[in-house]
Amino acid sequence: MGLDRKERALVGHLEGRQGLMEAELAALVAQNSFTPNREGVNAVGDHIQAELQKLGFRVAELVTGGVGRTLVARRAGDPTHRLLLLGHLDTVHPPTSSFNSFVGGPAGVELATGPGVADMKGGLVVVLEALRALAAASELDGRQVSIVFNADEETGSASSADLIRAEAQDAELCLCFEAGRMAADGKTTFVTERKGFGRMKLVATGRAAHAGVDPAEGASAVLELAHKIPELHALADPALGTTVNVGLFRGGTTANTVPEEAMLELDYRFPDEDTQLELEDALFRLSAKNFVKGEGGKARVTTVLKEHVKRPAMKSSEASERMSARLVKWGADLGLPLVPESRGGSSDAAFAADLGCPTICGLGAVGGAFHTDQEWIQRRSLVDRSRLLALTMYRFFRL
Ligand SMILES: [Zn+2]
Repeated sequence: MGLDRKERALVGHLEGRQGLMEAELAALVAQNSFTPNREGVNAVGDHIQAELQKLGFRVAELVTGGVGRTLVARRAGDPTHRLLLLGHLDTVHPPTSSFNSFVGGPAGVELATGPGVADMKGGLVVVLEALRALAAASELDGRQVSIVFNADEETGSASSADLIRAEAQDAELCLCFEAGRMAADGKTTFVTERKGFGRMKLVATGRAAHAGVDPAEGASAVLELAHKIPELHALADPALGTTVNVGLFRGGTTANTVPEEAMLELDYRFPDEDTQLELEDALFRLSAKNFVKGEGGKARVTTVLKEHVKRPAMKSSEASERMSARLVKWGADLGLPLVPESRGGSSDAAFAADLGCPTICGLGAVGGAFHTDQEWIQRRSLVDRSRLLALTMYRFFRL
């Protein structure tokens, strides 16, 4: 089908913008926004907020919690084509990391690296740039668009999940700008399904004692959790697509003290609600099970579930499958071969999909090595993905 004259002008506008997009991305990357770095996250939000205001968005709410602010921006218009765009301002890279800047290089170098380039400051730049192109073509006038860029995606979106749900409630389409990936035959991916995720923090409390003088007086919290760990891992079932990982384990004070306190944090994943409920049930039961016992089998260490955050699995629907097929066609019209994928990592798109809103994720820059200090993007994908978003919005508003 190709592009008509107006569409050609719209996406053509983006062709010369790669240098500007990279400069904007470099500035966002240079500003550390590790989730606990509240000031840093807010500084990234300040830039985005100012840019959205220039484009006629009202930044309707700024929510301050223990983490940085979540931006909720809206533009009023045609209520029959309500569009929601999702992204996050935070990254997993601490300010102390030596991996702290955007490295692009001369034209012709295919990849750029930097903390958050793919996950997902590249996606934020893609959104801003597509919106600028649409605004320049007067294509945002009369269009209803909501944007939620939250501050705590990487820790499970505890402060922002309800805001996302509220905006998704009556959206006709939700697009999320986590990174796409490279696939075979020069194709790149977007995401239609994701596993759900949960994180639990367990804190065990026993009784301290001198390890040499009165060991029997003590009750080891470290020993209690150490017993639990292999059993927690054993709850994962590859055949069902579930995983469990105890990623953090700490306890005790000195080698000659029976440890009174210990904690662990675990991450679990599941492909759908049935496996989720079953796995959570098993996790709760095992957390409550006692291993360190005294006389008469009495439990001597108590374990408490201190924190629990989770996101549902993102399942495709008939409506999201239709949108996915359109995106593949629309990508082809731009010369961008696209392929939908189902991915293990979870994202906030799941909150929208869970409410029945047709949802597509993975529309940000194309990259990889997420959450490592080799995180990279394909530089050209900044322009390509903003062309794709501009065309997608243009055509969505006319459906
Ligand atoms: Zn992300």
